[in-house]
Amino acid sequence: MADVVLSRCEEYDVDRIECLLYDALDRLGGVAALQPGARVLVKPNLLMKRDPQRHTTTHPAVVEALVRVLAYRGCDVTIADSPGGPFTEGILRGLYTVTGMREVAARTGARLNESTDSVQVEVPSANLSHMLTVLRCAAEADLIISVGKIKTHGLTAYTGAVKNLFGLIPGTLKVDYHARFPDIRDFCLGLMDVVAWAKPCLSVLDGVWGMEGKGPSGGSPRKIGALVVSENPHAADVVGAGLIGLAPEEVPTLRAAREIGVLPEVRVLKEELAALRVQDFRKAPAECQTGILANPLFARIVRSHPYVHPRACVGCGACQNACPAKAIALKNGVPRFNYEKCIRCYCCQELCPQTAVDVWQPFFMKWLK
Ligand code: SF4
Ligand code: SF4
Repeated sequence: MADVVLSRCEEYDVDRIECLLYDALDRLGGVAALQPGARVLVKPNLLMKRDPQRHTTTHPAVVEALVRVLAYRGCDVTIADSPGGPFTEGILRGLYTVTGMREVAARTGARLNESTDSVQVEVPSANLSHMLTVLRCAAEADLIISVGKIKTHGLTAYTGAVKNLFGLIPGTLKVDYHARFPDIRDFCLGLMDVVAWAKPCLSVLDGVWGMEGKGPSGGSPRKIGALVVSENPHAADVVGAGLIGLAPEEVPTLRAAREIGVLPEVRVLKEELAALRVQDFRKAPAECQTGILANPLFARIVRSHPYVHPRACVGCGACQNACPAKAIALKNGVPRFNYEKCIRCYCCQELCPQTAVDVWQPFFMKWLK
């Protein structure tokens, strides 16, 4: 049984969120791992260089409140993420500035990881990957905290605490990872290896505002009004997904956790999940995962696929660089997709800075799910 503290949180008020976090830690029994001197890596979801008001990234108010709590505990805090796409110190610096993390660091004294160094680590209990390449700062931390953002996701239906940890894999190596595990089940089992290695001591979900529809980057901001805290990232995700109307069986990462026996029973503390659930939260258009795709001819007709809005596209090539299957070629500055090669990972949609990539879905898909 894993406890999850669900708090009502209507706005990004750092003082208020700090109080909610103290209360959550108390209700969780204190989280003994957070000791003076512990080197803590705080991992927000900084998917791309975007203003926090667009709700693609974890809001800086949540990160600042958490860093204050950790500083009070005497922890030594580093904030780090590695977004998708090219991974350089310059890109990291820009990312931290635009997403508000630089100001958080300036106000709290937390460090920002601006190094792109990586190391190989072992995962003795791995399902698929016994060796992982991760950010060096994560390997050098004593503790990792996942500070995710509640959003829909084209590939994994939902992103929260667990999917956020994929950012511990540096930059474009994520593309290789997608290429190695094109099947959604394998991809999520691989994510379980990242979680097993990271062993986050705490997961915090920014659900004050989330993203609905074409998440994780092309959707619309939507108020949820909640803050989720748990020592168990899977339990946090059960509640995070539940807030936007998704049952565990609808979320591939939670299905994978259940398959390998790490999905706990969840006890929700403080607020009722049903009271904070947003009933009409729009789901992400996603790959059809029914057995119908076993028929190759029918699969060709019904499979969802990415396409581009030519008027929104600026021909930057970010989608082409992000594509693990090399299924995109730029022709006269506009992406052309090779659907025979496409593995439907939707990295192109996730990383397009213009939100010019969309997912085509047959109209009857919703009845097939
Ligand atoms: S679709 Fe997006 S990422 Fe791809 S070239 Fe156009 S603007 Fe760039
Ligand atoms: S075209 Fe897009 S969805 Fe298809 S494999 Fe490439 S990045 Fe993934």
